[in-house]
Amino acid sequence: MRVYNTETRRKEEFVPLTPGKVSMYVCGPTVYNFIHIGNARPMIVFDTARRYMEHKGYEVNYVSNFTDVDDKIIAKAMEEGVPAQEISERYIAECKKDMEGMNVKPATTHPLATQEIGGMIEMISDLIEKGYAYEVDGTVYFRTRRFAGYGKLSHKNLDDLRSGSRSLLVTGEEQKEDPLDFVLWKPKKEGEPSWPSPWGDGRPGWHIECSVMARKYLGEEIDIHAGGEDLIFPHHENEIAQSECCNGKPFARYWLHNAFLNIDNRKMSKSLGNFFTVREISEKYDLQVLRFFMLSAHYRSPLNFSAELMEASRNGLERIKNAVSNLDFLAKNAPEGEMTAQEQESLTQAQTYAARFDEAMDDDFNTADAIAAVFELVKFANSSVSGANTAAFAKAVRAEIVELCDILGLIVETQEELLDEEIEKLIAERQEARKAKNFARADEIRNQLAEQGITLLDTREGVKWKRA
Ligand code: AMP
Ligand code: ZN
Repeated sequence: MRVYNTETRRKEEFVPLTPGKVSMYVCGPTVYNFIHIGNARPMIVFDTARRYMEHKGYEVNYVSNFTDVDDKIIAKAMEEGVPAQEISERYIAECKKDMEGMNVKPATTHPLATQEIGGMIEMISDLIEKGYAYEVDGTVYFRTRRFAGYGKLSHKNLDDLRSGSRSLLVTGEEQKEDPLDFVLWKPKKEGEPSWPSPWGDGRPGWHIECSVMARKYLGEEIDIHAGGEDLIFPHHENEIAQSECCNGKPFARYWLHNAFLNIDNRKMSKSLGNFFTVREISEKYDLQVLRFFMLSAHYRSPLNFSAELMEASRNGLERIKNAVSNLDFLAKNAPEGEMTAQEQESLTQAQTYAARFDEAMDDDFNTADAIAAVFELVKFANSSVSGANTAAFAKAVRAEIVELCDILGLIVETQEELLDEEIEKLIAERQEARKAKNFARADEIRNQLAEQGITLLDTREGVKWKRA
C-alpha cells in the first residue's frame, strides 16, 4: 500500500511502526455548531482509509478529538447566554448523529480537549524545562526558532515566514521574543472557561491539544496523522514542533491531507454564506449519497459540491443497490444446489474486479477508481447472472459487491438484511430483559417478533430464530 506523504511530497510504501498495527490521529471538528459538509470530507475519507486498512488485516487504533474549548465556542455561548460546556456537549452529540448517518465508524477514542488539561500542563512544563518555551505574564509561548525542523511539513522557510510575519503580531502578543513564536497557554479572560496552572488560571492553545492527545492515546511516535489541508500550516507544523521537542522522537511517519470541498466552484465559507450543514443535506438526501459523492473523487483533489453531482451520486448508488436487490431476487427464486463449473469460472472473473478495487485503494486510497471497479462488477452482475443460474452463484456475486461497498462504508443491502439486524437487536434486548427478570418485557418482544412471523427457539447454544 502506498500513501502520499505531505512531508516528503511523495507517495511512499506504507510501513507501520509495529507490523499489523496502525496508529492514526485525525484532527476533529471544533464543536460550536452543526458540522458542515466540508468537515464531513475528512471524516468520510479517513474513515474509508481506516476501513480499507482493517480490510487488509491491520488493527487500527483510530483517534479523533473534539476541540471543545475555543474562541468560537465561547462566542456562541455568550450569544446564547449559556455555559460553553453546554454548547460543546450539544454539538458533539449532534456531530455523532451526523457521523452515524454517514456511516462513519466511531473512533477507537474520541478525546475531548477539556478532559486532557492536566496532560497539556505537563507537556508545556516539560517544554519550558527543556528551553523550548517561555512564560510572559501568564502566557506561555513556544520558541519556534529553537526547533531546527520547523517548516519541514509545510515546506516553509523560517526567513520567508519572518518577513511575512507582521500579521502574526496579534495585539496583546507583543511580549513574544520572536514574531514566529506561538501560544501554548493563554491567561484567563473574564467570563471564559479556565483551569489553574503554574502560570495562573487560563486555557491551552489549540495546537498543544492534539500533541497531547495523540501521545496519550497512541504514543510518542505514530503512523498516520491526518486532517484537511488547511491544517498543514500552522496547526500541524506546530504540533510537530511541540511533540518532537518534548519527546525527542519523530512524531508522525505519514501526513495525509484532504483537499477542500467547494460549493458551486467557490470556496465554501461561512462569511460567503455558501455552506451547507450535514443536517441540511440529510433533509434532502440519504447521507449515504453524501458519502458516495465524497468518495467519487480522490481525497487529494478539490471537490465541487453541486446539485447535479449529488443527483449523479444518488443514481450511482441506486444502480448498485438495484443490482444487489436483483441478485437477492434471483437467489431466492433460483434452483438450490452447487455452483456449476462454468459458474465457478465466471466467479473468478468477478473476483478480478475485487483485485482491481484493491489495486486502486493501495494507490493512496484512490476511491474514485475503486468505485469504478465496483461499477464494473455491477455491470458483470447485471449481464452474467440470470434466472438460469444457481442460488449459490447469485449469492456469491452479491457477496462480492456488498463486501467492496462495505469497505467504502456504503450500505447497499436491501431492507430484508437490515431487518435481520433489527431482529438480532430485539433478541439481545429480550435476553437482557430476562436476565434482569423483566419477564413482561421479554414476552412483549417475543410477541412483537411473532407478529412479524419470526419464531424464537431457546436452545442450549442460545436463541435461534427463523422466519415463518
Ligand atoms: P474545524 O472544525 O474548522 O477545525 O475543521 C475540522 C476539519 O474539517 C479539519 O480537518 C478541516 O481541515 C476540515 N475542513 C474544514 N472545512 C473544509 C472544507 N471546506 N473542505 C474539506 N475539509 C474541510
Ligand atoms: Zn489537530
